Amino acid sequence: MTALREILLRRITATGPISIAEYMTECLLHPAHGYYTTRDPLGAGGDFTTAPEISQMFGELLGLCLAQAWLDQGAPEAFVLAEPGPGRGTLMADMLRATARVPGFHAAARLHLVEASPALRTVQARALPQATWHDRIDQIPDDLPLYLVANEFFDALPIRQFVRDGAGWRERVVGRDGDELVFGLTAPAPLAELEHRLADTRDGDMVEQSPALPALTGEIGGRIARRGGAALIVDYGGRGRTGDSFQAVRGHEKVDPLAAPGEADLTAHVDFEALGRAAAPAACAGPVPQGVFLERLGITARAQALAAKLEGTALDAHVAAHRRLTHPEEMGDLFKVAALHPCNAPPPPGIET
Ligand code: SAH
Repeated sequence: MTALREILLRRITATGPISIAEYMTECLLHPAHGYYTTRDPLGAGGDFTTAPEISQMFGELLGLCLAQAWLDQGAPEAFVLAEPGPGRGTLMADMLRATARVPGFHAAARLHLVEASPALRTVQARALPQATWHDRIDQIPDDLPLYLVANEFFDALPIRQFVRDGAGWRERVVGRDGDELVFGLTAPAPLAELEHRLADTRDGDMVEQSPALPALTGEIGGRIARRGGAALIVDYGGRGRTGDSFQAVRGHEKVDPLAAPGEADLTAHVDFEALGRAAAPAACAGPVPQGVFLERLGITARAQALAAKLEGTALDAHVAAHRRLTHPEEMGDLFKVAALHPCNAPPPPGIET
């Protein structure tokens, strides 16, 4: 039994079943036993792989996309370049390499990272020694335009799950059965914050809601509306969906989310409709499928240029990486890109709908 399972069982005995959001928070970020707090989970030897770890092209194109948004807004001479949840720092390092020849961009950028994991901060410091780290987005200085990128960060935000029951909702919770953690449902009750979902759901449908998403997105959107800037948000998800997207991944395989708390990555699909609503007073463009976005930014030309210098297994791996990022049956459709931007500035390139 993991130490965290024991802690959770004791807590449930003392104060009753906990929400999925509380379970996710403890499993991912518990100071001593949390999944992210204690390890670097990325890459072939880890639990999962992300787009920037698959190919340098992903970060290069996102970097040039943000740099174009900066140029479109008059190339302000100082700005915050921010990334929440930077993983190994690969995405930002690729963005910086690709933008080194955009005149003035590097001189103007102040790099701020938001990372909850001490283990990952150490890895990031090797790739990005010039950065300043924060625990939360609202701690980033708020006196400059904000250019932000987030890849697979919002999917780690804890969610609550509710099952429709008549005009009310039953919340899915984690309780105990002996020494096992088990799912349960609360008694049905009406919920003001889910009033708008009564129109597009039926009895028995499950809806998900991220309690932290509105404030977080509102903070980013508010800054972009006031100071200028843009945010590129890449994640898997869709608009106002129903269904259970809560999942655990360990060793590149899907596993039971309750089986080994703190030992598996826990994620949920991002609700891009909620994200768009919370972005005001900034505008939210998209989401567009990742494959479409990368094609619009010229990934095929970039892939061909890189391919010309490769041969053998390196060339095969490069071709496979291009396909993995863009093909609709791989990450191309499942992952979406949305952008926040000021209402009086164009959306970053590739997101125009
Ligand atoms: N963006 C990276 C890593 C994605 S994994 C990539 O694409 O490779 C999720 C990242 O978010 C990790 O760095 C994790 O430690 C961080 N994270 C998760 N929840 C967080 C929170 N509440 N606050 C800050 N960082 C968080």
